Amino acid sequence: MVYDLIIAGSGPAGLTAAIYAKRAGLSFVVLEKESMSGGQVLNTYEVDNYPGLPGIGGFELGMKMREHADRLGVSFINIEVRHLDIEEEGRIKAIYTDGEVYRARSVIFAMGAKHRLLGIPGEKELTGMGVSYCATCDGAFFKGRTVAVIGGGDAAAEDAIYLAKGCEHVYVIHRRNTMRAAAILQDQLKGCENVTFLWDTEITRIVGEEHVEGLWMKHVKTGEERMLDLDGVFIAVGMTPETEIVSKLLQTDETGYIVAGEDTATSQPGIFAAGDIRTKALRQIITAAADGANAAIAAQKYLMA
Ligand SMILES: Cc1cc2nc3c(=O)[nH]c(=O)nc-3n(C[C@H](O)[C@H](O)[C@H](O)COP(=O)(O)OP(=O)(O)OC[C@H]3O[C@@H](n4cnc5c(N)ncnc54)[C@H](O)[C@@H]3O)c2cc1C
Repeated sequence: MVYDLIIAGSGPAGLTAAIYAKRAGLSFVVLEKESMSGGQVLNTYEVDNYPGLPGIGGFELGMKMREHADRLGVSFINIEVRHLDIEEEGRIKAIYTDGEVYRARSVIFAMGAKHRLLGIPGEKELTGMGVSYCATCDGAFFKGRTVAVIGGGDAAAEDAIYLAKGCEHVYVIHRRNTMRAAAILQDQLKGCENVTFLWDTEITRIVGEEHVEGLWMKHVKTGEERMLDLDGVFIAVGMTPETEIVSKLLQTDETGYIVAGEDTATSQPGIFAAGDIRTKALRQIITAAADGANAAIAAQKYLMA
């Protein structure tokens, strides 16, 4: 069977694409590697920036999105996408999984991205309890409190500037002695009176019982270790998009994101990239959902041409 469309991934982008594709009357299936839909949202303690649903639990929001797609009769298959191929001069796209090969005339890749972890004790245990990977999402919970941002790139600098507006104090902890963030961001950060830089410093452990209480850090040159008391740790050491399986056929940028604009069109006609997986300025639930809608309508137009 050749479907009109295959959607790979069922986070906010894939689920929104499915809702729009169903309403557009396309024949399609959603392939999801996890046993549940919702993507990164499932791991979010509280979402306070999705319009109309203030303070909703991430798990509940993920479930609501999936229920919406189920109510419309969307078909889901619990299987991991492994490989993309193109047949009949691009008219047919073949999606390889561990078992079946699924074929369609168009594809939406909505497989998201993963935050890089530090891999230190306390990090996993305290995620959602003071350890966060998203200042825009969780910063408001730390108003008037002391936090650290770990990292030295643009994301770390942006997070620290954002947090400095509401937090009492922000430590920027970086294992080198200079940031590689854009100069304009570094200038803005240096202008924040409540920001302290801790250079040449690595985090070795995050501590706390029910919530983050502090972290242990080590000076990489002197080896000196000390504890820093604080309420939150924002880790901004990069993201890894789930694009290895498509990077031979689709154009990706130097960090691995599929190159696509707001129209979600990729370098291959009929293949669209929606949500965190594509090049974009802001990776959030609402921008992923917007991409899903755009991608489904773009796929519909491609199929009608
Ligand atoms: C801890 C945390 C807190 C956050 N808090 C907020 C917040 O408060 N507000 C906000 O707006 N945003 C928040 N975000 C960001 C938001 O969750 C993401 O921007 C959004 O989920 C991206 O949606 P997506 O559909 O593009 O990708 P994802 O949510 O990453 O979904 C991708 C889906 O694809 C599936 N998949 C991956 N690879 C394959 C494969 N090979 N085969 C099949 N399926 C596959 C995954 O299992 C997943 O279900 C947060 C992120 C994190 C990590």
